[in-house]
Amino acid sequence: MNSNEIEIHKELKKYFGFSQFKGLQEQVITSILDRKNTFVIMPTGGGKSLCYQLPALIQEGTAIVVSPLIALMKNQVDAIRSLSSENGIAHVLNSSLTKTEIAQVKKDITSGLTKLLYVAPESLTKEEYVAFLQSVPISFVAIDEAHCISEWGHDFRPEYRNLRNIIKQLGKVPIIGLTATATPKVQEDILKNLDMSDANTFKASFNRPNLYYEVRTKTKNIESDIIRFIKQHKGKSGIIYCLSRKKVESIAEVLQVNGISAVPYHAGLDAKTRAKHQDMFLMEDVDVVVATIAFGMGIDKPDVRFVIHHDIPKSLESYYQETGRAGRDGGEGHCLAYYSYKDVEKLEKFMSGKPVAEQEIGFALLQEVVAYAETSMSRRKFLLHYFGEEFDSETGEGADMDDNVRNPKHKVEAKEEVVKLLEVVRDTKHIYKSKEIVFTLIGRINAVIKAHKTDTQPYFGSGSGHDEKYWMALLRQVLVTGLLSKDIETYGVIKITQEGLDFIKKPVSFMMSEDHEYSEADDEAIVT
Ligand code: ADP
Repeated sequence: MNSNEIEIHKELKKYFGFSQFKGLQEQVITSILDRKNTFVIMPTGGGKSLCYQLPALIQEGTAIVVSPLIALMKNQVDAIRSLSSENGIAHVLNSSLTKTEIAQVKKDITSGLTKLLYVAPESLTKEEYVAFLQSVPISFVAIDEAHCISEWGHDFRPEYRNLRNIIKQLGKVPIIGLTATATPKVQEDILKNLDMSDANTFKASFNRPNLYYEVRTKTKNIESDIIRFIKQHKGKSGIIYCLSRKKVESIAEVLQVNGISAVPYHAGLDAKTRAKHQDMFLMEDVDVVVATIAFGMGIDKPDVRFVIHHDIPKSLESYYQETGRAGRDGGEGHCLAYYSYKDVEKLEKFMSGKPVAEQEIGFALLQEVVAYAETSMSRRKFLLHYFGEEFDSETGEGADMDDNVRNPKHKVEAKEEVVKLLEVVRDTKHIYKSKEIVFTLIGRINAVIKAHKTDTQPYFGSGSGHDEKYWMALLRQVLVTGLLSKDIETYGVIKITQEGLDFIKKPVSFMMSEDHEYSEADDEAIVT
């Protein structure tokens, strides 16, 4: 069946009751109906599910949907069933089913009734299921949360790595990868691991113009600061993220004592309590949920008005996902993060027990969070740059929606310094990460610099007129403009780009702003 032959607008109305497609949905659906491998990168709430549900409903055969979360699969299946008079239209296949239930699922698939079959990646590896799926017509395989395939994503799941081999056993079926998290590196990993470099790729903008981004210094007074903030948002819904369960409990208690209706949520609570607290939040029996990252996946509360990060997250992907739960209805969404460098050190210490490769990735991702927190440039521009998207901080949508833009720091001309910085990166020949670049500029020796004899070079100490902090800030700002690039494969080696080389030849004005000063921290250990 060809996409041209189907009136997909009519089908949209018929099944979902919507009269228009959202964003890139129509293009994505056309690509799927044309049986092309398709890669969809859309922020949460972008309408990804419909992209595969509609083609599944109108095509021959059964579409397999791989998803890591059983609870989410169940929700989706219920939603699809409500669109039809046939329960068999969608099924979940997992280890909790009885023999009789499995027989029913197989019967519905064989008879052509089932259009969507949700499976967890580990179920798909079962030989018995694979053998069965080989014997029935499959329309396509959709892989939801496709970033789980990448170690650079925020939720790496090794079982995702087997998917490509299993799908190959099913014959020539198109693959649809979907994710809400795609830095260029994760994107590349997904295409490589699913062996679909030929895929039609659709990437929606990650800009959330209604969200306001703010970072505050974390001090001893953080609790009273949070209470004050919540009282200014009286009666509104909000989420507070903490890294440890202990902190979740203590903050929830402090809020309750201060007359704020709040409940805790973390994986240490039993399932019943978790479900109850989640429902209380969704039903607006409480205003605030204090949670670890265990809370939020698949929670579709449109009017969350603020998301507070009591502790900085481990990566900007997590930060974006978590803050993204605010303002889904397009209304106000205040994203407030507390930052102190001590928290970063705690996280680093916490990671030090992990395997080396994982540690390196963890450190590199964390460095980006540090840079985001400390930057004095447009936070939106910084975030979007991280996701491979250019943003005009003067005219872009939501350009004035962050603390740095509203209260700009004093800017100074740094044309000559940029040239010095670029020259050091060029002349040290792409071997150094930010730290050694900055050390070379200020003339500080460490073992790495000694080993490369950089301290004997004429440019060693060429930037000693400024301190380490200045150069670090400048380096970050130059990175965002694209004169330098950071190589993620090598965990952060800095390279000069063609634009950077051009800048050295013909420098132009470069206004930099100095980074924020941060100090203080709380003193609690992380126990996740
Ligand atoms: P994602 O999976 O990208 O986070 P969802 O698939 O959950 O997003 O969709 C987010 C919301 O958008 C859902 O409430 C869904 O019903 C709604 N939605 C999806 N497509 C459309 C459309 N074409 N018109 C109106 N609403 C839509």
